[in-house]
Amino acid sequence: MAKRVVVIGTGGAGLVAAIAARMSGAEVAVISKTSRGLGTCTAYSAGVFSLACGGVSSEEHYERTLKTGQFVNDPSLVKILSEETETALKTLAGWGVGIEFKRGMATVRFTARNEIMGGAGFVAELVSIAEKAGVRFEDWTVATSLRLLGDRVVGVEVQDWRTGRQECLGAGSVILATGGGGRLFSRTDNPSRITGDGYALALNAGANLRDMEFVQFYPVGWAEPGFPRWLADVGLVDYLRITDSKGDEFLKKALKEWGFRNGREGNLYARDLCARIMAEKDLEGGVYAHLEDLTEDQWADPYLEYCLTLDSRLFKGVRRPLRVAPLEHYFCGGVVIDGCGRTSVGGLYACGEAAGGVDGANRVGGNALSSVVTFGLRAGHAAAEEGRSGFETLVAGSARDFLAISEEGENPEKLRRELQEEAWAALGPIRENRKMERFLAYLSDFRARRIRVDSSVGRLQALEMEGLFMTARTVAEAALKRETSLGTHYMSGQ
Ligand SMILES: Cc1cc2nc3c(=O)[nH]c(=O)nc-3n(C[C@H](O)[C@H](O)[C@H](O)COP(=O)(O)OP(=O)(O)OC[C@H]3O[C@@H](n4cnc5c(N)ncnc54)[C@H](O)[C@@H]3O)c2cc1C
Repeated sequence: MAKRVVVIGTGGAGLVAAIAARMSGAEVAVISKTSRGLGTCTAYSAGVFSLACGGVSSEEHYERTLKTGQFVNDPSLVKILSEETETALKTLAGWGVGIEFKRGMATVRFTARNEIMGGAGFVAELVSIAEKAGVRFEDWTVATSLRLLGDRVVGVEVQDWRTGRQECLGAGSVILATGGGGRLFSRTDNPSRITGDGYALALNAGANLRDMEFVQFYPVGWAEPGFPRWLADVGLVDYLRITDSKGDEFLKKALKEWGFRNGREGNLYARDLCARIMAEKDLEGGVYAHLEDLTEDQWADPYLEYCLTLDSRLFKGVRRPLRVAPLEHYFCGGVVIDGCGRTSVGGLYACGEAAGGVDGANRVGGNALSSVVTFGLRAGHAAAEEGRSGFETLVAGSARDFLAISEEGENPEKLRRELQEEAWAALGPIRENRKMERFLAYLSDFRARRIRVDSSVGRLQALEMEGLFMTARTVAEAALKRETSLGTHYMSGQ
Protein backbone atom coordinates (compact mmCIF):
# COMPACT_ATOMS: atom_id res chain seq x y z
CA MET A 1 0.00 0.00 0.00
CA ALA A 2 1.20 3.49 -0.87
CA LYS A 3 2.51 5.76 1.88
CA ARG A 4 0.43 8.83 2.65
CA VAL A 5 1.91 12.35 2.51
CA VAL A 6 0.07 15.63 3.18
CA VAL A 7 1.77 18.79 1.89
CA ILE A 8 0.69 22.20 3.19
CA GLY A 9 1.19 24.96 0.59
CA THR A 10 1.20 25.19 -3.19
CA GLY A 11 4.14 27.50 -3.84
CA GLY A 12 7.27 26.10 -5.47
CA ALA A 13 8.35 24.13 -2.39
CA GLY A 14 4.98 22.44 -1.84
CA LEU A 15 4.48 21.59 -5.51
CA VAL A 16 8.01 20.21 -6.01
CA ALA A 17 7.75 18.18 -2.77
CA ALA A 18 4.31 16.85 -3.76
CA ILE A 19 5.48 15.74 -7.21
CA ALA A 20 8.64 14.16 -5.76
CA ALA A 21 6.63 12.26 -3.12
CA ARG A 22 4.13 11.10 -5.74
CA MET A 23 6.93 9.96 -8.05
CA SER A 24 8.38 8.00 -5.11
CA GLY A 25 5.09 6.10 -4.99
CA ALA A 26 3.20 7.91 -2.19
CA GLU A 27 -0.43 9.03 -2.20
CA VAL A 28 -0.24 12.81 -1.90
CA ALA A 29 -2.75 15.47 -0.88
CA VAL A 30 -1.84 19.17 -1.07
CA ILE A 31 -3.63 21.86 0.93
CA SER A 32 -3.80 25.44 -0.22
CA LYS A 33 -5.50 28.50 1.22
CA THR A 34 -6.12 29.80 -2.29
CA SER A 35 -6.71 28.19 -5.65
CA ARG A 36 -3.63 25.98 -6.19
CA GLY A 37 -0.43 27.90 -6.99
CA LEU A 38 -2.01 31.36 -6.87
CA GLY A 39 -1.18 34.02 -4.28
CA THR A 40 2.22 32.47 -3.57
CA CYS A 41 5.59 34.20 -3.32
CA THR A 42 6.84 31.74 -5.94
CA ALA A 43 4.34 33.07 -8.48
CA TYR A 44 5.11 36.69 -7.47
CA SER A 45 8.88 36.14 -7.72
CA ALA A 46 11.25 37.38 -10.41
CA GLY A 47 11.86 33.70 -11.27
CA VAL A 48 15.64 33.94 -10.83
CA PHE A 49 17.74 31.18 -9.20
CA SER A 50 21.35 31.57 -7.94
CA LEU A 51 23.45 28.42 -8.21
CA ALA A 52 26.75 26.88 -9.12
CA CYS A 53 26.59 26.49 -12.89
CA GLY A 54 27.99 27.93 -16.13
CA GLY A 55 31.49 28.47 -14.75
CA VAL A 56 30.60 29.32 -11.12
CA SER A 57 31.84 26.47 -8.92
CA SER A 58 29.97 24.96 -6.01
CA GLU A 59 32.83 26.15 -3.73
CA GLU A 60 32.29 29.77 -4.87
CA HIS A 61 28.53 29.52 -4.36
CA TYR A 62 29.04 27.91 -0.94
CA GLU A 63 31.48 30.58 0.25
CA ARG A 64 29.32 33.46 -1.05
CA THR A 65 26.23 32.06 0.68
CA LEU A 66 28.00 31.65 4.02
CA LYS A 67 29.69 35.06 3.81
CA THR A 68 26.45 36.83 2.89
CA GLY A 69 24.68 34.97 5.72
CA GLN A 70 27.43 36.13 8.17
CA PHE A 71 28.25 32.45 8.85
CA VAL A 72 25.05 32.06 10.87
CA ASN A 73 23.88 29.51 8.23
CA ASP A 74 23.87 25.73 8.73
CA PRO A 75 26.91 24.79 6.58
CA SER A 76 25.58 21.29 5.88
CA LEU A 77 22.43 22.72 4.27
CA VAL A 78 24.46 25.27 2.28
CA LYS A 79 26.71 22.48 1.00
CA ILE A 80 23.68 20.57 -0.29
CA LEU A 81 22.34 23.74 -1.91
CA SER A 82 25.65 24.54 -3.61
CA GLU A 83 26.25 21.00 -4.82
CA GLU A 84 22.74 19.92 -5.84
CA THR A 85 20.72 22.83 -7.22
CA GLU A 86 21.86 22.37 -10.82
CA THR A 87 20.93 18.66 -10.73
CA ALA A 88 17.63 19.50 -9.00
CA LEU A 89 16.74 22.02 -11.71
CA LYS A 90 17.67 19.51 -14.41
CA THR A 91 15.30 17.03 -12.75
CA LEU A 92 12.52 19.63 -13.06
CA ALA A 93 13.51 20.26 -16.68
CA GLY A 94 13.14 16.49 -17.20
CA TRP A 95 9.56 16.77 -15.90
CA GLY A 96 8.91 19.39 -18.59
CA VAL A 97 9.54 22.64 -16.65
CA GLY A 98 11.01 25.45 -18.80
CA ILE A 99 14.37 26.56 -17.35
CA GLU A 100 17.25 28.53 -18.88
CA PHE A 101 20.73 28.18 -17.39
CA LYS A 102 23.21 31.10 -17.48
CA ARG A 103 26.44 31.90 -15.65
CA GLY A 104 25.83 31.33 -11.92
CA MET A 105 22.08 31.52 -12.34
CA ALA A 106 18.98 30.07 -13.95
CA THR A 107 15.68 31.66 -14.86
CA VAL A 108 12.07 30.64 -15.47
CA ARG A 109 10.89 34.18 -16.32
CA PHE A 110 10.46 33.44 -20.01
CA THR A 111 7.51 31.12 -19.24
CA ALA A 112 5.64 33.92 -17.40
CA ARG A 113 2.98 35.87 -19.25
CA ASN A 114 4.16 39.22 -17.91
CA GLU A 115 7.27 40.88 -16.52
CA ILE A 116 5.80 41.41 -13.06
CA MET A 117 5.09 37.87 -11.85
CA GLY A 118 8.19 36.11 -13.19
CA GLY A 119 7.39 32.84 -11.37
CA ALA A 120 3.77 32.48 -12.51
CA GLY A 121 4.58 30.29 -15.53
CA PHE A 122 6.83 28.07 -13.39
CA VAL A 123 4.03 27.52 -10.86
CA ALA A 124 1.45 26.81 -13.58
CA GLU A 125 3.77 24.18 -15.09
CA LEU A 126 4.31 22.51 -11.70
CA VAL A 127 0.56 22.46 -10.99
CA SER A 128 -0.11 20.77 -14.30
CA ILE A 129 2.66 18.17 -13.71
CA ALA A 130 1.29 17.45 -10.21
CA GLU A 131 -2.27 17.05 -11.53
CA LYS A 132 -1.13 14.67 -14.24
CA ALA A 133 0.88 12.67 -11.69
CA GLY A 134 -2.27 12.15 -9.59
CA VAL A 135 -1.62 14.54 -6.70
CA ARG A 136 -4.91 15.39 -4.95
CA PHE A 137 -5.53 19.11 -4.28
CA GLU A 138 -7.60 20.62 -1.47
CA ASP A 139 -8.00 24.27 -2.50
CA TRP A 140 -9.46 27.10 -0.33
CA THR A 141 -8.49 25.06 2.74
CA VAL A 142 -6.51 26.23 5.77
CA ALA A 143 -4.36 23.87 7.83
CA THR A 144 -5.23 24.94 11.37
CA SER A 145 -3.20 22.46 13.46
CA LEU A 146 -1.26 19.21 13.32
CA ARG A 147 -2.68 16.07 14.94
CA LEU A 148 -0.07 14.29 17.06
CA LEU A 149 0.01 10.78 18.50
CA GLY A 150 2.80 10.70 21.07
CA ASP A 151 5.69 12.46 19.38
CA ARG A 152 4.56 11.71 15.79
CA VAL A 153 2.38 13.71 13.49
CA VAL A 154 -0.56 11.61 12.25
CA GLY A 155 -2.81 14.15 10.60
CA VAL A 156 -3.64 17.74 9.69
CA GLU A 157 -6.74 19.55 10.96
CA VAL A 158 -8.13 21.64 8.12
CA GLN A 159 -10.98 24.04 7.50
CA ASP A 160 -12.57 25.12 4.21
CA TRP A 161 -12.74 28.86 4.91
CA ARG A 162 -15.54 29.44 2.42
CA THR A 163 -17.97 27.01 4.10
CA GLY A 164 -16.48 26.52 7.57
CA ARG A 165 -16.39 22.72 7.05
CA GLN A 166 -13.70 21.06 9.17
CA GLU A 167 -11.98 17.71 8.84
CA CYS A 168 -8.77 15.97 9.81
CA LEU A 169 -6.66 14.43 7.03
CA GLY A 170 -4.75 11.37 8.19
CA ALA A 171 -1.08 11.41 7.18
CA GLY A 172 1.98 9.21 7.49
CA SER A 173 4.06 12.33 7.08
CA VAL A 174 3.38 16.05 6.66
CA ILE A 175 5.44 18.62 4.78
CA LEU A 176 5.21 22.28 5.82
CA ALA A 177 5.67 24.37 2.68
CA THR A 178 3.75 27.35 3.97
CA GLY A 179 6.25 30.06 2.94
CA GLY A 180 7.29 32.92 5.23
CA GLY A 181 5.44 35.51 7.30
CA GLY A 182 5.71 38.66 5.18
CA ARG A 183 2.16 39.80 5.85
CA LEU A 184 3.06 40.44 9.46
CA PHE A 185 4.39 43.76 8.16
CA SER A 186 2.45 46.72 6.80
CA ARG A 187 5.11 47.31 4.11
CA THR A 188 5.75 44.08 2.22
CA ASP A 189 5.71 42.72 -1.33
CA ASN A 190 4.35 39.34 -0.15
CA PRO A 191 0.82 38.18 -1.09
CA SER A 192 -2.00 38.39 1.49
CA ARG A 193 -2.03 34.74 2.57
CA ILE A 194 1.64 34.63 3.64
CA THR A 195 0.95 34.94 7.36
CA GLY A 196 3.50 32.75 9.15
CA ASP A 197 1.05 29.83 9.65
CA GLY A 198 3.81 27.23 9.21
CA TYR A 199 5.81 28.73 12.08
CA ALA A 200 2.77 28.50 14.39
CA LEU A 201 1.94 24.93 13.24
CA ALA A 202 5.54 23.85 13.86
CA LEU A 203 5.83 25.54 17.27
CA ASN A 204 2.49 24.14 18.47
CA ALA A 205 3.63 20.64 17.43
CA GLY A 206 6.87 21.02 19.40
CA ALA A 207 9.32 21.69 16.52
CA ASN A 208 11.99 24.36 16.81
CA LEU A 209 12.55 27.56 14.86
CA ARG A 210 15.88 29.30 14.23
CA ASP A 211 17.20 32.71 13.06
CA MET A 212 13.76 34.33 13.24
CA GLU A 213 15.22 37.80 13.91
CA PHE A 214 16.65 37.82 10.38
CA VAL A 215 13.85 39.28 8.30
CA GLN A 216 15.14 40.45 4.94
CA PHE A 217 13.93 43.91 3.93
CA TYR A 218 14.23 44.61 0.24
CA PRO A 219 16.14 47.92 -0.04
CA VAL A 220 14.10 49.59 -2.77
CA GLY A 221 10.31 49.56 -2.89
CA TRP A 222 7.89 52.07 -4.33
CA ALA A 223 6.71 54.42 -1.58
CA GLU A 224 4.96 57.04 -3.71
CA PRO A 225 1.24 57.60 -3.07
CA GLY A 226 -0.76 55.91 -5.83
CA PHE A 227 1.95 53.33 -6.59
CA PRO A 228 1.64 49.71 -5.45
CA ARG A 229 3.65 48.47 -2.46
CA TRP A 230 6.07 46.53 -4.59
CA LEU A 231 9.80 46.17 -4.93
CA ALA A 232 12.06 47.81 -7.53
CA ASP A 233 15.37 46.08 -8.27
CA VAL A 234 18.46 47.52 -6.55
CA GLY A 235 19.95 47.40 -10.08
CA LEU A 236 17.91 50.56 -10.73
CA VAL A 237 20.79 52.48 -9.15
CA ASP A 238 22.86 51.59 -12.26
CA TYR A 239 20.29 53.38 -14.47
CA LEU A 240 19.28 56.53 -12.66
CA ARG A 241 20.11 58.66 -9.63
CA ILE A 242 18.79 57.39 -6.31
CA THR A 243 19.33 60.26 -3.88
CA ASP A 244 18.47 61.46 -0.43
CA SER A 245 16.46 64.66 0.02
CA LYS A 246 19.66 66.73 -0.45
CA GLY A 247 20.43 65.16 -3.82
CA ASP A 248 23.31 62.97 -2.59
CA GLU A 249 23.73 59.65 -4.44
CA PHE A 250 24.44 57.88 -1.16
CA LEU A 251 23.52 54.36 -2.30
CA LYS A 252 25.85 54.30 -5.28
CA LYS A 253 28.71 55.70 -3.14
CA ALA A 254 28.05 53.22 -0.33
CA LEU A 255 28.03 50.24 -2.72
CA LYS A 256 31.49 51.29 -3.97
CA GLU A 257 32.77 51.72 -0.39
CA TRP A 258 31.51 48.23 0.52
CA GLY A 259 33.40 46.78 -2.45
CA PHE A 260 30.51 46.10 -4.85
CA ARG A 261 30.82 47.07 -8.51
CA ASN A 262 27.19 47.98 -9.07
CA GLY A 263 23.59 47.68 -7.93
CA ARG A 264 23.33 44.22 -9.47
CA GLU A 265 25.98 42.91 -7.06
CA GLY A 266 24.35 44.82 -4.18
CA ASN A 267 21.09 43.06 -4.99
CA LEU A 268 22.74 39.65 -4.76
CA TYR A 269 24.99 40.06 -1.74
CA ALA A 270 24.21 43.25 0.22
CA ARG A 271 20.48 43.63 0.66
CA ASP A 272 21.07 43.96 4.42
CA LEU A 273 23.50 46.90 4.11
CA CYS A 274 21.47 48.57 1.36
CA ALA A 275 18.22 48.30 3.35
CA ARG A 276 19.86 49.85 6.43
CA ILE A 277 21.15 52.90 4.63
CA MET A 278 17.92 53.29 2.66
CA ALA A 279 15.87 53.14 5.89
CA GLU A 280 18.10 55.72 7.59
CA LYS A 281 17.88 58.14 4.67
CA ASP A 282 14.13 57.55 4.46
CA LEU A 283 13.79 58.73 8.07
CA GLU A 284 16.03 61.73 7.44
CA GLY A 285 13.77 63.18 4.74
CA GLY A 286 13.09 60.56 2.09
CA VAL A 287 14.82 58.75 -0.78
CA TYR A 288 14.02 59.46 -4.41
CA ALA A 289 14.44 57.54 -7.67
CA HIS A 290 14.95 60.13 -10.39
CA LEU A 291 12.88 58.85 -13.29
CA GLU A 292 13.41 62.19 -15.06
CA ASP A 293 17.02 61.01 -15.73
CA LEU A 294 15.97 58.25 -18.15
CA THR A 295 16.50 58.73 -21.87
CA GLU A 296 14.07 57.37 -24.48
CA ASP A 297 16.64 54.66 -25.37
CA GLN A 298 16.75 53.56 -21.75
CA TRP A 299 12.94 53.42 -21.57
CA ALA A 300 13.09 50.93 -24.45
CA ASP A 301 15.61 48.66 -22.68
CA PRO A 302 13.94 45.46 -21.36
CA TYR A 303 16.40 45.34 -18.42
CA LEU A 304 14.99 48.69 -17.23
CA GLU A 305 11.52 47.12 -17.06
CA TYR A 306 13.03 44.25 -15.08
CA CYS A 307 14.51 46.79 -12.62
CA LEU A 308 11.32 48.85 -12.35
CA THR A 309 9.58 45.53 -11.57
CA LEU A 310 6.28 47.02 -12.73
CA ASP A 311 4.95 47.42 -16.24
CA SER A 312 7.00 50.33 -17.61
CA ARG A 313 3.78 51.72 -19.16
CA LEU A 314 2.78 52.66 -15.61
CA PHE A 315 5.73 55.06 -15.56
CA LYS A 316 5.39 56.47 -19.08
CA GLY A 317 5.04 60.21 -18.84
CA VAL A 318 6.40 60.14 -15.26
CA ARG A 319 9.38 62.49 -15.51
CA ARG A 320 9.87 63.34 -11.85
CA PRO A 321 11.52 61.87 -8.75
CA LEU A 322 9.48 59.10 -7.09
CA ARG A 323 9.81 58.21 -3.43
CA VAL A 324 11.27 54.78 -2.63
CA ALA A 325 11.87 52.98 0.70
CA PRO A 326 12.59 49.44 1.96
CA LEU A 327 9.85 46.86 2.38
CA GLU A 328 9.67 43.42 3.97
CA HIS A 329 10.59 40.72 1.47
CA TYR A 330 11.69 37.39 2.99
CA PHE A 331 12.15 35.38 6.21
CA CYS A 332 15.71 34.00 6.44
CA GLY A 333 14.82 31.99 9.55
CA GLY A 334 12.27 29.21 9.96
CA VAL A 335 11.76 25.63 11.08
CA VAL A 336 14.95 23.75 12.00
CA ILE A 337 15.51 20.94 9.47
CA ASP A 338 18.15 18.40 8.51
CA GLY A 339 19.33 17.82 4.94
CA CYS A 340 16.14 15.91 4.09
CA GLY A 341 13.80 18.54 5.54
CA ARG A 342 13.13 16.46 8.70
CA THR A 343 12.19 18.41 11.83
CA SER A 344 12.53 17.22 15.43
CA VAL A 345 8.89 15.98 15.36
CA GLY A 346 8.38 12.48 13.93
CA GLY A 347 6.89 12.54 10.41
CA LEU A 348 7.05 16.35 10.16
CA TYR A 349 9.11 17.96 7.36
CA ALA A 350 9.61 21.55 6.21
CA CYS A 351 11.04 23.09 3.06
CA GLY A 352 11.14 26.39 1.16
CA GLU A 353 10.82 29.70 3.02
CA ALA A 354 9.10 27.94 5.95
CA ALA A 355 12.44 26.26 6.79
CA GLY A 356 15.50 28.00 8.27
CA GLY A 357 19.24 27.43 8.17
CA VAL A 358 20.21 27.98 4.55
CA ASP A 359 20.36 31.77 4.60
CA GLY A 360 21.76 32.61 8.03
CA ALA A 361 21.60 36.33 8.77
CA ASN A 362 21.04 37.52 5.18
CA ARG A 363 20.07 35.75 1.95
CA VAL A 364 21.89 35.81 -1.37
CA GLY A 365 19.48 37.03 -4.07
CA GLY A 366 18.17 34.02 -6.02
CA ASN A 367 18.97 31.46 -3.31
CA ALA A 368 15.35 31.24 -2.12
CA LEU A 369 14.09 29.58 -5.28
CA SER A 370 17.17 27.34 -5.34
CA SER A 371 16.31 26.17 -1.79
CA VAL A 372 12.67 25.71 -2.76
CA VAL A 373 13.61 23.26 -5.52
CA THR A 374 16.56 21.47 -3.88
CA PHE A 375 14.96 20.93 -0.47
CA GLY A 376 11.46 20.48 -1.93
CA LEU A 377 12.76 17.46 -3.85
CA ARG A 378 14.65 16.08 -0.87
CA ALA A 379 11.72 16.51 1.55
CA GLY A 380 9.27 14.97 -0.92
CA HIS A 381 11.38 11.85 -1.45
CA ALA A 382 12.16 11.42 2.27
CA ALA A 383 8.54 11.95 3.39
CA ALA A 384 7.34 9.34 0.89
CA GLU A 385 9.53 6.73 2.60
CA GLU A 386 7.94 7.31 6.01
CA GLY A 387 4.71 6.58 7.74
CA ARG A 388 1.53 4.64 7.22
CA SER A 389 -0.45 3.92 4.07
CA GLY A 390 -3.94 4.57 2.67
CA PHE A 391 -5.76 7.92 3.04
CA GLU A 392 -8.26 8.13 5.82
CA THR A 393 -10.29 10.96 7.25
CA LEU A 394 -9.91 11.17 11.01
CA VAL A 395 -12.63 12.64 13.22
CA ALA A 396 -12.05 16.39 13.17
CA GLY A 397 -10.75 17.79 16.45
CA SER A 398 -12.81 20.50 18.13
CA ALA A 399 -11.68 23.82 16.67
CA ARG A 400 -10.34 26.36 19.08
CA ASP A 401 -10.53 30.05 18.26
CA PHE A 402 -7.23 31.81 18.74
CA LEU A 403 -9.03 35.09 19.48
CA ALA A 404 -12.51 34.90 20.99
CA ILE A 405 -15.25 35.51 18.43
CA SER A 406 -18.25 37.62 19.37
CA GLU A 407 -20.80 39.83 17.62
CA GLU A 408 -19.41 42.88 19.41
CA GLY A 409 -15.85 41.97 18.45
CA GLU A 410 -13.51 44.02 16.23
CA ASN A 411 -13.31 43.80 12.47
CA PRO A 412 -10.52 41.25 11.74
CA GLU A 413 -9.18 43.24 8.77
CA LYS A 414 -8.82 46.35 10.96
CA LEU A 415 -7.17 44.40 13.75
CA ARG A 416 -4.76 42.77 11.31
CA ARG A 417 -3.82 46.18 9.88
CA GLU A 418 -3.16 47.48 13.38
CA LEU A 419 -0.88 44.50 14.15
CA GLN A 420 0.98 45.02 10.86
CA GLU A 421 1.61 48.71 11.61
CA GLU A 422 2.82 47.87 15.13
CA ALA A 423 5.11 45.13 13.78
CA TRP A 424 6.59 47.46 11.16
CA ALA A 425 7.31 50.11 13.82
CA ALA A 426 8.96 47.63 16.21
CA LEU A 427 10.54 44.99 13.96
CA GLY A 428 11.10 46.89 10.70
CA PRO A 429 14.49 47.70 9.13
CA ILE A 430 15.70 49.79 12.13
CA ARG A 431 15.07 48.29 15.55
CA GLU A 432 15.34 49.57 19.14
CA ASN A 433 15.11 47.51 22.35
CA ARG A 434 12.60 49.92 23.90
CA LYS A 435 10.22 49.58 20.94
CA MET A 436 10.53 45.80 20.80
CA GLU A 437 9.81 45.47 24.53
CA ARG A 438 6.74 47.69 24.12
CA PHE A 439 5.65 45.54 21.17
CA LEU A 440 5.89 42.36 23.26
CA ALA A 441 3.71 44.01 25.91
CA TYR A 442 1.22 44.95 23.15
CA LEU A 443 1.23 41.28 22.05
CA SER A 444 0.49 39.98 25.53
CA ASP A 445 -2.66 42.17 25.62
CA PHE A 446 -3.53 41.16 22.06
CA ARG A 447 -4.72 37.69 23.13
CA ALA A 448 -7.62 39.27 25.03
CA ARG A 449 -9.01 41.01 21.91
CA ARG A 450 -12.30 39.77 20.43
CA ILE A 451 -13.17 39.63 16.76
CA ARG A 452 -16.34 39.57 14.73
CA VAL A 453 -16.66 37.04 11.92
CA ASP A 454 -19.45 37.94 9.53
CA SER A 455 -18.04 36.80 6.17
CA SER A 456 -15.98 33.94 4.79
CA VAL A 457 -12.97 36.25 4.32
CA GLY A 458 -13.42 37.32 7.94
CA ARG A 459 -13.30 33.62 8.91
CA LEU A 460 -10.06 33.19 6.95
CA GLN A 461 -8.53 36.27 8.57
CA ALA A 462 -9.55 34.97 11.99
CA LEU A 463 -7.81 31.66 11.23
CA GLU A 464 -4.66 33.55 10.19
CA MET A 465 -4.37 35.51 13.47
CA GLU A 466 -2.43 32.77 15.25
CA GLY A 467 0.27 32.60 12.57
CA LEU A 468 0.68 36.37 12.56
CA PHE A 469 0.73 36.55 16.35
CA MET A 470 3.20 33.71 16.90
CA THR A 471 5.47 34.95 14.14
CA ALA A 472 5.44 38.44 15.67
CA ARG A 473 6.29 37.13 19.12
CA THR A 474 9.04 34.82 17.87
CA VAL A 475 10.71 37.53 15.78
CA ALA A 476 10.53 40.05 18.65
CA GLU A 477 11.94 37.59 21.21
CA ALA A 478 14.76 36.48 18.90
CA ALA A 479 15.60 40.08 18.02
CA LEU A 480 15.73 41.13 21.68
CA LYS A 481 18.09 38.27 22.47
CA ARG A 482 20.50 39.35 19.75
CA GLU A 483 21.87 42.48 21.29
CA THR A 484 23.96 43.80 18.40
CA SER A 485 23.35 44.39 14.72
CA LEU A 486 24.06 41.48 12.39
CA GLY A 487 22.94 40.91 8.81
CA THR A 488 19.34 41.95 8.35
CA HIS A 489 18.89 42.56 12.10
CA TYR A 490 19.81 46.22 12.53
CA MET A 491 19.74 47.98 15.88
CA SER A 492 19.48 51.76 15.73
CA GLY A 493 22.84 53.50 15.72
CA GLN A 494 24.98 50.31 15.58
C1 LIG B 1 8.12 39.94 -5.19
C2 LIG B 1 9.05 38.81 -4.88
C3 LIG B 1 10.08 38.49 -5.75
C4 LIG B 1 10.94 37.43 -5.45
N1 LIG B 1 11.88 37.07 -6.38
C5 LIG B 1 12.71 36.03 -6.11
C6 LIG B 1 13.64 35.56 -7.08
O1 LIG B 1 13.67 36.00 -8.23
N2 LIG B 1 14.51 34.57 -6.72
C7 LIG B 1 14.47 33.99 -5.48
O2 LIG B 1 15.28 33.10 -5.20
N3 LIG B 1 13.55 34.39 -4.56
C8 LIG B 1 12.66 35.36 -4.85
N4 LIG B 1 11.73 35.72 -3.92
C9 LIG B 1 11.56 34.88 -2.72
C10 LIG B 1 10.88 33.55 -3.13
O3 LIG B 1 9.93 33.83 -4.14
C11 LIG B 1 10.18 32.85 -1.97
O4 LIG B 1 11.01 32.74 -0.87
C12 LIG B 1 9.74 31.45 -2.39
O5 LIG B 1 8.98 31.51 -3.59
C13 LIG B 1 8.92 30.79 -1.30
O6 LIG B 1 8.38 29.61 -1.83
P1 LIG B 1 7.54 28.64 -0.89
O7 LIG B 1 7.02 27.56 -1.75
O8 LIG B 1 8.33 28.30 0.29
O9 LIG B 1 6.32 29.57 -0.39
P2 LIG B 1 5.21 30.33 -1.23
O10 LIG B 1 5.51 30.32 -2.68
O11 LIG B 1 5.01 31.66 -0.61
O12 LIG B 1 3.90 29.44 -1.00
C14 LIG B 1 3.35 29.29 0.30
C15 LIG B 1 2.04 28.51 0.18
O13 LIG B 1 1.60 28.08 1.45
C16 LIG B 1 0.19 28.28 1.56
N5 LIG B 1 -0.16 28.31 2.98
C17 LIG B 1 0.39 29.07 3.96
N6 LIG B 1 -0.20 28.78 5.13
C18 LIG B 1 -1.13 27.82 4.88
C19 LIG B 1 -2.08 27.13 5.69
N7 LIG B 1 -2.20 27.35 7.02
N8 LIG B 1 -2.92 26.24 5.11
C20 LIG B 1 -2.84 26.00 3.76
N9 LIG B 1 -1.96 26.62 2.95
C21 LIG B 1 -1.12 27.52 3.52
C22 LIG B 1 -0.02 29.57 0.80
O14 LIG B 1 -1.38 29.77 0.48
C23 LIG B 1 0.88 29.28 -0.41
O15 LIG B 1 0.19 28.40 -1.29
C24 LIG B 1 10.82 36.74 -4.22
C25 LIG B 1 9.79 37.07 -3.34
C26 LIG B 1 8.90 38.07 -3.66
C27 LIG B 1 7.77 38.38 -2.72
